[in-house]
Amino acid sequence: MSLTLKEVIQVFNNIEQTIFLNRQFLTDLDAAIGDGDHGINLSKGFKAVSEKLKTAPIKDVSDIFKLSGMAIVSTVGGASGPLYGTALMKAATLCAGRTEISLENFKDILNAAIGGVKLRGGADKGDKTMLDALLPAFEELRKAVEANLDSLNALQNAYMAAEEGVEYTKTIAARKGRASYLGERSIGHQDPGATSSYLILKTVYETVKVMKEK
Ligand code: ADP
Ligand code: MG
Repeated sequence: MSLTLKEVIQVFNNIEQTIFLNRQFLTDLDAAIGDGDHGINLSKGFKAVSEKLKTAPIKDVSDIFKLSGMAIVSTVGGASGPLYGTALMKAATLCAGRTEISLENFKDILNAAIGGVKLRGGADKGDKTMLDALLPAFEELRKAVEANLDSLNALQNAYMAAEEGVEYTKTIAARKGRASYLGERSIGHQDPGATSSYLILKTVYETVKVMKEK
């Protein structure tokens, strides 16, 4: 896999679509254990990302991630805006001068993004957050790169691990974010942020699949 700048932008545009189509679902999940704004807010954020990427001058992958992160931070409130924004801006720091993304780059990008989320939010595995989807996905990518697995299989394994992570969030109590106010009563509900992270990773896989089948 090697995604060009145009293809990376296409991935972001498709993520906007996915989050738009799932905005009510994500918001309903957040209404159950939070304040019911996750889908609506994130959808606004990714719309701003697409608009920015349409008009801004872009010379490398770093620009794409930096502009996206800034657009998210300035449009999405609550916890997830600064967290996703920081994730994207951390990812940008790895991509200066790069005009393509390989699977190995993508693995490093996800790692940097996770580092940003951890640093910003102080959460880790098992706190019932987006990290419960992102960490298992990263682990799959790490193993895939090590084993020289082809990119589509790697991306598929990653999003499926994120999906399992979402299922796992149903079994645990929230220890971070708004849902933590509910404590044990958050058990039984899937985490909205883990769900949006899974949807994003699934969209990466689906977009690359279509691109590479052409
Ligand atoms: P808010 O809770 O401020 O309304 P959102 O509803 O947009 O923000 O996002 C909620 C999601 O943010 C949660 O489902 C969770 O996945 C994620 N989240 C909250 N706090 C943290 C944190 N400290 N670290 C990582 N993710 C977090
Ligand atoms: Mg919320």
